[in-house]
Amino acid sequence: MDEGKPAYKRVLLKLSGEALLGELPYGLDFKKALSIARELKQIHELGVDIAIMIGGGNIFRGSRGVEEGMDRVSADHIGLLATVINGIALQDALEKEGLNTRLISAIEIRAVAEPFIRRRVLRHLEKRRIVIFTAGLGSPYFTTDTAAVLRALEIKAEVILKATKVDGVYTADPLIDKEATRFESIKFLEVIQQELKVMDSTAISLCKDNDLPIIIFNLNIPGNIKRAVLGEKVGTKVF
Ligand code: UDP
Repeated sequence: MDEGKPAYKRVLLKLSGEALLGELPYGLDFKKALSIARELKQIHELGVDIAIMIGGGNIFRGSRGVEEGMDRVSADHIGLLATVINGIALQDALEKEGLNTRLISAIEIRAVAEPFIRRRVLRHLEKRRIVIFTAGLGSPYFTTDTAAVLRALEIKAEVILKATKVDGVYTADPLIDKEATRFESIKFLEVIQQELKVMDSTAISLCKDNDLPIIIFNLNIPGNIKRAVLGEKVGTKVF
């Protein structure tokens, strides 16, 4: 590993909606979006192509609607639109940092975002624009994790960087079990067999079948995204 040289040329960053919560109990903290944008600028300056899949859990998750009696498809449509709201905020924050961006939505919302057209997205990345994917895959019954993996494969990203609020993958929930230890790396098969909470099973299987590694790390530690991109040991690598 060369000092200061990125380990990857193209990455897909999966940001959960919660990443934009900041100090808030609910909703969207623009200050948090700005701090993420500052970190992304540093990676962009290293020459790394960046695509982001943004979640919507800070605003609405389909499962919540279903618990309250809503039809799954309607609930997921609301969840999908929540991701677009987050995407707009993130785009604005990245632009405040002087970065060129394109907002893509898997559901057509022409006034706000471009539709997903793979070759056009590849062109954006070649032109060094940061691509923000919203509305997951545009279909209910999926998560933005699965959408992140599929888009990463389509744009030939070399790794998925999954930014979360924990330090990586643990043997058990570290908040409940004080003996829990973190894996530095772990194989996909072990994640599946041990039912470790990394991503949903569809997303993990898709990564495994296509040899797409995932790095799970804590977004709340400043500099972590850059460390992951530089190939430094951070969080847990699933491969
Ligand atoms: N969703 C969906 N299809 C997709 C991606 C997302 O229906 O391809 C809906 C689903 O209801 C989900 C919500 O959008 O709960 C928000 O996405 P997610 O829960 O993955 O967001 P995160 O947990 O990353 O914030």
